[in-house]
Amino acid sequence: MAYTCSASTNADMIHLLGVARLWTSARVGQAMNRTDREHYVGRDNASVAYVDRPIGIGHGVTISAPHMHAIMLQELEPWLTPGANVLDVGSGSGYLSVAMAMMVSEGNAAGRCVALEYIEPLMRQSMLNIRADGKQSLMDNGTLVLLTGDGWAGVPSLAPFDAIHVGAAAVEIPQALVSQLKPGGKMVVPVGAQDQGQVLTEVVKDHMGKVTTRSLMGVRFVPLVRSSPFE
Ligand code: SAH
Repeated sequence: MAYTCSASTNADMIHLLGVARLWTSARVGQAMNRTDREHYVGRDNASVAYVDRPIGIGHGVTISAPHMHAIMLQELEPWLTPGANVLDVGSGSGYLSVAMAMMVSEGNAAGRCVALEYIEPLMRQSMLNIRADGKQSLMDNGTLVLLTGDGWAGVPSLAPFDAIHVGAAAVEIPQALVSQLKPGGKMVVPVGAQDQGQVLTEVVKDHMGKVTTRSLMGVRFVPLVRSSPFE
């Protein structure tokens, strides 16, 4: 997916993404409007916070481009309902976890977003980002649970999940995550090796537990690493 825009405020950037129909649900627009990207890109990158491209945030990792955040939220929107239990694998900067947490807690619903990241310092930085964005209360009241751990394993103790977002490219669909998906749930995961074309893949589990996969579009993500410290 290639799309690029540049704006001077968060609101203008989200507006442009909406004009380009990268999000169509008002709930997605609202969640992105309430999550200010400036707080998630790192202080040195503040001047390019509203440019639609991925930005390095240290540890060889990037915060995804805003259009990719919009696409992911839009794909999952019907599953990010108030009260839902959802998982964000490879949470990095924390941006998408916050947007997901706000959607599942709309109207003070007791939804929960579990954010899973394997680089501990990045996880700690994401907590500072979230605080700087004025979203400390999401962590305090348990709406947003940040965990350090391996995305290939997921979080069985807090499963099953209505929706799972994977923010890094997996060489194959992580089966542990499929098994942690609720019947009726949906996962979006970039699949493919670094040197090959990666495909954003939808994994849907029906109410009988039958799993169906579908390719959505070509994408480019950092790898969901296998040799994590948790193996
Ligand atoms: N949605 C995030 C994407 C960050 S990039 C954002 O926009 O900020 C992908 C993230 O996946 C990185 O932070 C990386 O450290 C993390 N990651 C890679 N392999 C992982 C694994 N096996 N388990 C958990 N997180 C992983």
